[in-house]
Amino acid sequence: MFGAIEAGGTKFVCAVGDEKGIIIERISIPTTVPEETMAQVITFFEKYQLDAIGVGSFGPIDINEESPTYGMITSTPKLPWRNYHFLQAMKDAFSVPIGFNTDVNAAALGESVHGAAKGLDSCLYITVGTGVGAGAVVQGKLLQGLSHPEMGHILVRRHPDDNYQGKCHYHSDCLEGLAAGPAIEGRWGKKGIDLVDKQEVWELEGYYIAQALMQYILILSPKKIILGGGVLKQKQVFASVYKYLPELMGGYVELPELSEYIVSPGLGDDAGITGSLLLAHQAFNHNSLKI
Ligand code: ADP
Ligand code: ZN
Repeated sequence: MFGAIEAGGTKFVCAVGDEKGIIIERISIPTTVPEETMAQVITFFEKYQLDAIGVGSFGPIDINEESPTYGMITSTPKLPWRNYHFLQAMKDAFSVPIGFNTDVNAAALGESVHGAAKGLDSCLYITVGTGVGAGAVVQGKLLQGLSHPEMGHILVRRHPDDNYQGKCHYHSDCLEGLAAGPAIEGRWGKKGIDLVDKQEVWELEGYYIAQALMQYILILSPKKIILGGGVLKQKQVFASVYKYLPELMGGYVELPELSEYIVSPGLGDDAGITGSLLLAHQAFNHNSLKI
């Protein structure tokens, strides 16, 4: 039996289940300060005899096993969590193997094994919510280099009519700064959920996401693209992406039927937690191999 944490900026979802994605119990804990949130996480898992735990965390985090700061949350704007040693806190509480990766990598893994990209050895999972993040499975493995990719912060061409300055703490008008939930709210003065009938909001959203997808496709050539996160609950965005992407691509790369290629998560809101169970499973196997 495995434990899983989907650690988000607003809430931590903790679950106990197996690598098939079957969840037997789950809870949601508000993300406040590490001491408070983690105390509740530990109490939840202490009830179980676990074989391993998988963590899919908001970031940026250090996932380079060779690094002295491996397992830490690094330059997050969430100050109480900056430089918090997440993995160490888990290791201090539980003496089982612990898999540690980003929330979006976990979701990409979940979707590739049990969701919309099941049976494929490559996919890209993108979330557009409080931020924009993406995780990729390439040749059956999570894409990782120096650390994890940060695809949400690429530069995009501004729409000529868009004067919004952008909302990224680091780059102002990168993709996240122009297209994440807070940017929608900043530009239009209302939350996304209250702008459902305003077509230009979702048209512009698709305009930026299509540009990002073009670049991801050119660089990674994923076999499936999964768009998740709160903002993508607005299905109008998909229509806008399907319109702009072929225009941008100009026929250069032949794409599959877009409605099958660019899809919502097959696991719905459970992509991240299912992927975290798989991270636990991987950590368990990895550990058995070492012995
Ligand atoms: P998080 O990114 O914090 O894990 P979400 O993916 O739910 O959480 O993203 C939250 C952001 O998405 C907020 O900016 C919110 O306004 C926006 N959002 C959430 N639900 C919807 C919706 N149904 N329609 C449009 N925007 C939404
Ligand atoms: Zn940025």
